[in-house]
Amino acid sequence: MAKVPYRIYLSEEEIPKNWYNLRADMKEPHDPLISPATHEPLKKEDLYPIFCEDLAAQEMDYTTRYFPIPEEIREFYKIYRPSPLCRAYNLEKALGTPAKIYYKFEGNNTSGSHKLNSAVAQAYYAKKQGLKGLTTETGAGQWGTALSEACAYFGLDLTVYMVKTSAQQKPYRKAIIETFGADIIPSPSDTTEAGRAILAKNPNTGGSLGCAISEAVEKAVTSDSCRYVLGSVLDQVLLHQSVIGLEAKTAMEKYGEYPDIIIGCAGGGSNLGGLIAPFMKDRLDGTKNPYFIAVEPASCPSLTRGKYAYDFCDTGKITPLAKMYTLGCEFLPSPNHAGGLRYHGMSPTLSKLYHDGYLDEARSYEQTKVFDAAVFFAKHETILPAPESSHAIRAAIDEALKCKQSGEEKTILFGLTGTGYFDMTAYMSYLEGSMTDYIPTDEDLQKGFDSLPKVE
Ligand SMILES: *Cc1c(COP(=O)(O)O)cnc(C)c1O
Repeated sequence: MAKVPYRIYLSEEEIPKNWYNLRADMKEPHDPLISPATHEPLKKEDLYPIFCEDLAAQEMDYTTRYFPIPEEIREFYKIYRPSPLCRAYNLEKALGTPAKIYYKFEGNNTSGSHKLNSAVAQAYYAKKQGLKGLTTETGAGQWGTALSEACAYFGLDLTVYMVKTSAQQKPYRKAIIETFGADIIPSPSDTTEAGRAILAKNPNTGGSLGCAISEAVEKAVTSDSCRYVLGSVLDQVLLHQSVIGLEAKTAMEKYGEYPDIIIGCAGGGSNLGGLIAPFMKDRLDGTKNPYFIAVEPASCPSLTRGKYAYDFCDTGKITPLAKMYTLGCEFLPSPNHAGGLRYHGMSPTLSKLYHDGYLDEARSYEQTKVFDAAVFFAKHETILPAPESSHAIRAAIDEALKCKQSGEEKTILFGLTGTGYFDMTAYMSYLEGSMTDYIPTDEDLQKGFDSLPKVE
């Protein structure tokens, strides 16, 4: 076998032709989305006012294993995919580890993250249905950027509710989104009932993803020919993100490699769900047994300290209920948290895999430890990682250091979801030494749990 290059690039032809729906191979039945009013399972038609029809169908499809990727979407993918699978030789050397470290790098596009993989799909289906526009929320801004790119390409209007603190901290993100022609509204705003209610309760709030979601959903359902799209958490998003794992697996196979450990950061779970999907299939089929690790911030610890329960997907409590690990839809991470991954819940599919023991481990790190890893990685691998991605880097480094102790030559694969150019305020506070860690107390978390809906 040839020496593995620093960067393994597949050809255009090797871009996957199908997305893989992991739910089709999961052993236990999937808990459906339910109505907040009746607690009855929803049908795809119930979602039509919110989501466009093809996406509602994908959301509710637990059995179709492969979804053909429409040619128009594959054409768009060819602009920035396949993304490279990188061998971290320099990081390995700097750590002095016998472990082999690989990362799938999704930051080589203007959105600076994997979010474009789903944005283009969601914009395509909206266009196909003949809609005029879309609404969405964005936290750190990657999703808003990705969707604004996709909407510009397909000629759709877009309104983005951007978490207020983030809009203030990242004026350039806002400018990029506006460059692609989208409207940005800092959230909470007075343009929706949900936003006005949240402001009345908490006038100084810097906003949250859950609250921006409420506003974007309300705006979609009250506007003509407009639907809402979400960049994470949902099963349709995990489906689109399966391109990450499918490409990674093909690239590794070319060199006779297979990961012993697979690591991803977890905000709403879309990159992790997409990265692990084909490897988890092997695990579920009983052919291989890789070890899966989800990594989250200690300040927003939905998997490690949350409850597995039905909850709203938004703070304003207007979305359907999903069964997931959650901190409660009213949970707001501490304002000093700069590392992204701020969502209160976790993908229902990943939540179930974790609950049933297939996703082996969830761990959390404080943000200063995450930035230690980010800076170390940047120096050796010459990529400036996003703070979100750096959670996975932290865990990969720690696993590689364990191999150094034990002498084991494990193969580690992690998802490098994006670049951190718009996170320099956070990097600066880390470099100045003013970055602090805040871990919520049990009492802090209890407030969030008190907001959980009562579902029998
Ligand atoms: C959005 C984002 C994440 C977290 O979202 P998931 O849905 O959990 O993948 C991670 N990294 C980057 C760079 C992001 O933009």
